[in-house]
Amino acid sequence: MLCEIANPFIRRILQEVGLVTGSMRPYVVGGFVRDTLMGKESQDLDVVVESSGSHNGMTLAQSLADKWQVDVRAHQDFGTATVSHPEGLKIDFVTARCETYTQAGVLPTVKFSHITDDLWRRDFSVNAIAISISSDQFGQILDPTNGIADLAGKRIRVLHAESFTDDSTRIFRALRYATRFQFQIETETEKLMQSAIDRIRPLSGTRIRNEIERIFQEACVVKIMQRLSMLGICQAICPQWQLPSDFENIWHNFQSHLEWAGHHLGEDVLNAEVLLWMALNLPSTSQERLLLSGRLRKKLTVREELAQRLLYEPLTPAMRPSQIYQFLKPYPIEALVSHLPQPQIEQYLIRLRQIKPNKTGSDLIADGWTSGPELAQALWKNFARQLDQEATRKTS
Ligand code: ATP
Repeated sequence: MLCEIANPFIRRILQEVGLVTGSMRPYVVGGFVRDTLMGKESQDLDVVVESSGSHNGMTLAQSLADKWQVDVRAHQDFGTATVSHPEGLKIDFVTARCETYTQAGVLPTVKFSHITDDLWRRDFSVNAIAISISSDQFGQILDPTNGIADLAGKRIRVLHAESFTDDSTRIFRALRYATRFQFQIETETEKLMQSAIDRIRPLSGTRIRNEIERIFQEACVVKIMQRLSMLGICQAICPQWQLPSDFENIWHNFQSHLEWAGHHLGEDVLNAEVLLWMALNLPSTSQERLLLSGRLRKKLTVREELAQRLLYEPLTPAMRPSQIYQFLKPYPIEALVSHLPQPQIEQYLIRLRQIKPNKTGSDLIADGWTSGPELAQALWKNFARQLDQEATRKTS
């Protein structure tokens, strides 16, 4: 069976790849093939090469990079190499391999092999279809696991009974694809998945965090997280973690806060991912379990502190701009944005935090002050007056 690659640019690039491979056999695999067969546009090109003598995915990547006069980015740990076409398309190269799992939850041992073995080591049948890009077989489909039938039947199906126990990150992947494409998880796969949920416990924090970050990139985050929660996956990750029952509301509110921030504060002012982690409401034990960075954890803690403080000391319309400034200045922008809508927070974010003091410590020292607490106090007094005047002037 032949597959038509509709995008002429991608087709041309893949044909170029096919022309430099010599005796090696290259195939596009994974998400690109799945999406192309579903009639969706994809730019996520993974090329698998059957090695031949000393030639493999790495050497093919190098030959192409030489041809296109660009650099190769080699990821030695994963045996992959990335080449970016000068017109802007990125291709990942890897050598066809098979894998053996020696212990659940850890990465497998790999050795070079044939494309068919490489497809059988994959997560689901719909991700285990290959299209040849060798010049003599361009477009030929290879589907040893019957992925095309599963695409047509809208099914996510694993390729063998140990799949989830070998690698329990596939549980997250199954839920992600099933929700994204509105596919069913095939009955046997669902049973295998449920009985492997305990296998999430030995997974490293980093691997789980990566999976959650990939969920953040989906359009249907709420549905995926709710499914994770219903299956007991949040608790398998960390017994103290419960997804809030009003997570859907929280998530949608956070999305509108992000939109507000994009509109009023501009692009790079805050880190959207920090805000997404805030929406999950992770207790500190779960933050540790997921090995969140110290910086991120600090921001999550400070957000909680701000929430508590706002309960006891609410912001009021009677507050002067300098009081609002003094109250909100210590908190990171993400924590403030997460507490919108509040007019005082909006006022601080849009205007007050942009105002720069018109006098510095050196100015006051030049006026005869000596450094010390009095100088700091005088500086703040001057700045507070300036904030109150400027903020009032700009609103009037
Ligand atoms: P997406 O559209 O989510 O990016 P993708 O299929 O491109 O989907 P990747 O995570 O980039 O997903 O992985 C590329 C391919 O590698 C997958 O299609 C699948 O064949 C294989 N793969 C990825 N992760 C696993 C895994 N944990 N176990 C087995 N195969 C995997």
